[in-house]
Amino acid sequence: MSTATALRSPPETSRDTDRLLPIAAKVAAGARLTREDGIALVGCHDLAFLGELATLVRDRKRPERTVSYIVDRNINPTNVCVARCTFCAFDRLPGDPEGYVLTHEQIFAKVDELLAVPGVNDKLLARGGVQVLLQGGHHPKLGIEYYEQLFRALRTRYPKLHLHGLSPSEIVHVSKLSHLTIEAVVERLTQAGLDSIPGGGGEILVDRVRQLIAPGKANTAEWLGVMRVAHQRGMMTTATMMYGHVETEDERVDHLLALRALQDESLAAGKGSFTAFICWPFQPGGSELECRKSGANDFLRTNAVARVLLDNFPHQQTSFVTQGDKLGQLALFFGCDDFGGTMLEENVVSAAGTQCLITIQQIEHCIRAAGFTPVRRNMHYEMLDS
Ligand code: SF4
Repeated sequence: MSTATALRSPPETSRDTDRLLPIAAKVAAGARLTREDGIALVGCHDLAFLGELATLVRDRKRPERTVSYIVDRNINPTNVCVARCTFCAFDRLPGDPEGYVLTHEQIFAKVDELLAVPGVNDKLLARGGVQVLLQGGHHPKLGIEYYEQLFRALRTRYPKLHLHGLSPSEIVHVSKLSHLTIEAVVERLTQAGLDSIPGGGGEILVDRVRQLIAPGKANTAEWLGVMRVAHQRGMMTTATMMYGHVETEDERVDHLLALRALQDESLAAGKGSFTAFICWPFQPGGSELECRKSGANDFLRTNAVARVLLDNFPHQQTSFVTQGDKLGQLALFFGCDDFGGTMLEENVVSAAGTQCLITIQQIEHCIRAAGFTPVRRNMHYEMLDS
């Protein structure tokens, strides 16, 4: 396919054309983009051009024009955290009267609410199509035993529920607190019932940035190291990016390339790997970090650039929780092929004043209205009958 036939919206200026059309030709041919290509795309503000490039990749990955979502809910077992990320409005220091640790009964009650959602049934459960996402603060006293007990209790009470939990930075925190290797923590949590690991806490995987916004949590090598260990033992995980704060455009590209390199390694090993990438902008409300709020244009451009750079990622999720259903829907034309989870509850970005939860019916309406067919999936992206 020639570039001219592949793209209806070539870049607008001749300077852009000289720089960007060779990149478009590579995307059309399915060739891998370089760091320099990525930097050129991150600096491109031509939305139509970027959207078309991303759609080429998206349609190649999912030609049947479906958009998936999973029935799930967020549960944050604790908001007590010693990491002190400057962008966070959810955390509370030990001793803060607003700090909490949920009891098992409180967590069970939240799972029971999820299982009571209309349309949730044993068939969906049995195929891993009902999931809880467990993430919380770096509590200074909750070590490996706490999470083993919690996962065992959940696994005993809900044998078919998919447990997607503990971001890499939480696993690093538990490993330090309990004086265990990452391998031992992942092994013990898996034995206790953990099914997969979410990509939370990735922010920007460049240590200069992490030192500025999240000095108390896993560094780049540690974050990637947890995912490497998880993949080596056959586990599927996801990857995230929180952009729009102190990072440069080049550092956004470096983040994406770090994920792409690990995915290459994991796919070559043939065990576990990343299933999907999701990005969202920093939400400035209520946190120490002062930055201008990143807008809709940046969200769509960032999704598009990620889609073409992450050529070895099968799926990309849109973030309706931070961006709302309309922008979440628009991202389907900028590389996204998945609407993420139904969530039911979200406490982390909502602490920064942003929360856009919608119902299953609204998710399906958004997908249909954009011209796609909604399908339910499990964490492994197997499509399920409801
Ligand atoms: S983002 Fe997570 S690790 Fe960082 S302060 Fe908030 S709860 Fe703690």
